Amino acid sequence: MIKRTPFIVGNWKMNKTRAQTIEFLNKFIKGVEHVTSKEIGVAPAFTSLVTASDLLKNTKIKLCSQNVHWDESGQYTGEISSLMLKDYDVEYAIIGHSERRKFFGETNESVNKRVKGAIKGGLKIILCVGETKEEREAGNTENIVKNHLIGGFKDISVNELLKDVTIAYEPVWAIGTGLNATVEQAVEVHRFIRTTIDSIYGVGTSQKVRILYGGSVKPDNIDGFMATDDIDGALVGGASLDAESFIRIANFKEA
Ligand code: PEP
Repeated sequence: MIKRTPFIVGNWKMNKTRAQTIEFLNKFIKGVEHVTSKEIGVAPAFTSLVTASDLLKNTKIKLCSQNVHWDESGQYTGEISSLMLKDYDVEYAIIGHSERRKFFGETNESVNKRVKGAIKGGLKIILCVGETKEEREAGNTENIVKNHLIGGFKDISVNELLKDVTIAYEPVWAIGTGLNATVEQAVEVHRFIRTTIDSIYGVGTSQKVRILYGGSVKPDNIDGFMATDDIDGALVGGASLDAESFIRIANFKEA
């Protein structure tokens, strides 16, 4: 079996001022400085990227953004480009988060443009896929996830996939609700994602791609998710806002 480096990413969404970012990171950096066998990332709000970039400079913690535009510059009010993000040592951009799809009209087409633009601009990406409660109840989970993958990766080569892509399975019904998927539910969809990636890119490809789980990950459930071979890490919202809690998650017990 191919070993994939675990990846734990905190998505702060629209939270934390500059002072709160400094307070959090000063504690968090100390709490994870001994961690060498995992990748750890934080995705602050854009207004905290400069501060976070300075504080993370001599650490192994990856700076991530919560979104990225497909062009390097231009008339796109309210957007941010890979060129601007790379200026602050951002390595990863989260793309296609369900909150972007739900509140800001993000579609598989716009997600794909962002994926292509980000990779061309030198960023790695974390593509979020996942079904709503209604879609799950209607038996449509696999269809939705497959469409998110096929749409999101249109025109992305196997080399780009292997070099620059992490996938996050985030069932929408589990995000911010406290209702996490069970380990079995998550594993089932992670396996389906691998089958889909193999059908697009060739058998065995998916073994080299990291797939994270996201949806109400907390200190008391992270070890269970990380005990399976199918789950390579976590994208964490609410529980990444508190330093103690996110330190515990980043220090999950390895099986
Ligand atoms: C997320 O927003 O990506 C997320 C998983 O949120 P939460 O952990 O709060 O459910």
